[in-house]
Amino acid sequence: MAGDWIKMRQDLRDDPAVVQIAILTDIDEDTVVGKLHRLWSWADKHTTDGAAPAITKNWVDRYVAQSGFADAMASAGWISFSESGILFPSFDIHNGNSAKSRAEASVRQRLSRKNRDDGVTGVEKTAIPKPFVRHVLNRDNYTCVYCGTESDEATENSRKARLSIDHIIPETRGGSASVANLACCCRKCNNEKNDRTPEEWGLEPAFLQDGVTYKDGQMSQKNRDMPVTKSLPEKRREEKSINTEANASVVRATKKCPSSFEVTADLMDWATEKCPLVAQATETATFRDYTFSRAIGDWVGAWRNWMRKAQKDAEAGQTKRGNVSSHKTFAQQDREAGWARWEAQTNRVHPDRIASQGVVIDASQNYLEISQ
Ligand SMILES: [Zn+2]
Repeated sequence: MAGDWIKMRQDLRDDPAVVQIAILTDIDEDTVVGKLHRLWSWADKHTTDGAAPAITKNWVDRYVAQSGFADAMASAGWISFSESGILFPSFDIHNGNSAKSRAEASVRQRLSRKNRDDGVTGVEKTAIPKPFVRHVLNRDNYTCVYCGTESDEATENSRKARLSIDHIIPETRGGSASVANLACCCRKCNNEKNDRTPEEWGLEPAFLQDGVTYKDGQMSQKNRDMPVTKSLPEKRREEKSINTEANASVVRATKKCPSSFEVTADLMDWATEKCPLVAQATETATFRDYTFSRAIGDWVGAWRNWMRKAQKDAEAGQTKRGNVSSHKTFAQQDREAGWARWEAQTNRVHPDRIASQGVVIDASQNYLEISQ
């Protein structure tokens, strides 16, 4: 009557009543449990309260295909017979609608507690096996591929580790768990990016190791199947020795923007459209002067990220302006808005801005901040 399942205890087989029934009927306990399941399922389906009129011991024995079963159950106190039929004592405590909803609610609670503990939010997320984590961290030089934040191996095992692993295309969007879709990512970026693709979020993985590229939502690397086994200190040593080698003919990733990097008309158009609040020439000049904490191969990507960050900062600055906590006067805000318009049109820093403010680089953030 109450759904297509019944509740059965895990330790039922060892219950003294079951043992007693097994002894009396001369069958083993597992078989007793099977027959009980059959009988209780029938009672659940055809009675509401465990009382079944006109049912006899013989019928029970026939139904479970075991003579003496009804008597054995009765002697264990699990069934009683009268002239009006049979009764399963306390049936509604274990079965029946209300008992079932109680049981279901407790299962639901247990599951939701477990989900909460696992941090699951609807979509089942796969834990990335340790060797894969290590491989990706190594491959990406313990550097956030989005903002360039570095960490080191020593802190990586601690709970406070600054780095995490990002699914470039999120799992919730069908991204795979292969290393090609995984990238080293600082927790700040990972939280910000959340369930978005890099394109939707606005930052592309630009801080990639040599030989690793990102295109159309896929990371690729040479010898992708061969795990990087070198430890970080090893790699740092190697990098150092290569850097000290006087081999100018080899073009390789650098920490400073190479003079060969050109802001093409296409890139300018892109920035005009995507980052309208950014003074391109100023930002590009600062970008060229900036020394990154690690060597970069994809300078176009790094430049784009730089511009996007500048745009975000500019947007944040705009909202801040309406904030009560802003120290700037309205006159000052107007003046600065004027500078920004002039800068956007001329691609030069407004002379008054240079006169009034110093341009300061916050190395930990890898983006520009104008000092107050
Ligand atoms: Zn980051």
